Amino acid sequence: MADVALPSGGLKGQAIEEGFELAGVCPAVEPPHLDAYLAWLALERHGKMTYMSRSRRQRSGPQSLLPGAKSILAVGLNYNQEPPNPPNDPNERRGRVSRYAVGRDYHKVMRGKLKRIARWAEREYAGLKSRPCVDSAPILERDFAWLAGLGWYGKNTCLINTKRGSWFFIGLLLLDREFEPDEPAVGDCGTCTKCIDACPTGALVYEEGNRVAVLDSNLCISYLTIEHPGALTAKQQRLLNGWVFGCDVCQDVCPFNRPRPHQPLRAAPTREPDFAPRPANVMPRLTWLAGLGDEQFVDAYRGSALMRAGPERMRRNALGLLRQSPR
Ligand code: SF4
Ligand code: SF4
Repeated sequence: MADVALPSGGLKGQAIEEGFELAGVCPAVEPPHLDAYLAWLALERHGKMTYMSRSRRQRSGPQSLLPGAKSILAVGLNYNQEPPNPPNDPNERRGRVSRYAVGRDYHKVMRGKLKRIARWAEREYAGLKSRPCVDSAPILERDFAWLAGLGWYGKNTCLINTKRGSWFFIGLLLLDREFEPDEPAVGDCGTCTKCIDACPTGALVYEEGNRVAVLDSNLCISYLTIEHPGALTAKQQRLLNGWVFGCDVCQDVCPFNRPRPHQPLRAAPTREPDFAPRPANVMPRLTWLAGLGDEQFVDAYRGSALMRAGPERMRRNALGLLRQSPR
């Protein structure tokens, strides 16, 4: 007798209880947009993120991460908030930090929630095995979140949920049981090109006929400030546009991230207390940041997503901004 898919309502209900706003289930198949991803790698649009090309085989199937994986629970957690204004000290130059990084490191927050869902599933289904993934394992998380119905691809390359917008983190829980899947998300940007027009560096490459734009990481401020190793050239420093960690421009301008009377959930503020802004993360003073020693940096940013860039890159970014004329 063929296996019958288990109902997925309980799993998704646990996700909502954990505080995720979005939850859906998809089969653990080859990622549907794998070819586009491989073409992106072939054009070297991943910059110097060599781990992406090294792990291309693993990214072709979730079974490389969880043997026997059959289903994936995809979840979304709203991180949207307007960071508070920095102190009013006009003579101090400050660097902008992407809004996803002003509070506690999302990896830790999401992983804790996914682990609790995993423990629930293990109690509910004897012998079930699972593996949480939050932006650190070699898996195309966004593609599975699309397949599970969380959102569709916008031209800014983010997943957009029609009701909520795109200010949400994605996490996955791989499962070795088959659960009833949801439908892939449906939607598109129509004729809008606001994000492409607003990107200060031209990092979003859009060719008519393609529904999805392509991100050239080599030009993206988010990549340059967080992932790019070594020194920044003078040209790269000029691209930073006041950002010292990440960049929000292409999401900020998106109409799906603007509240509307008939779409009250769009751009709603996060309900997650761990994402409350930390003073050191909100537009830090550039001279202070540029002068931080490694230990001082860790003291200031322990448990925050800025640890991903680390002290050397953050000093480099701050110095790069200080070399530009104030904006
Ligand atoms: S994050 Fe900033 S630099 Fe990167 S594509 Fe979006 S707007 Fe452009
Ligand atoms: S700004 Fe416009 S084109 Fe860009 S993702 Fe949003 S809706 Fe799509």
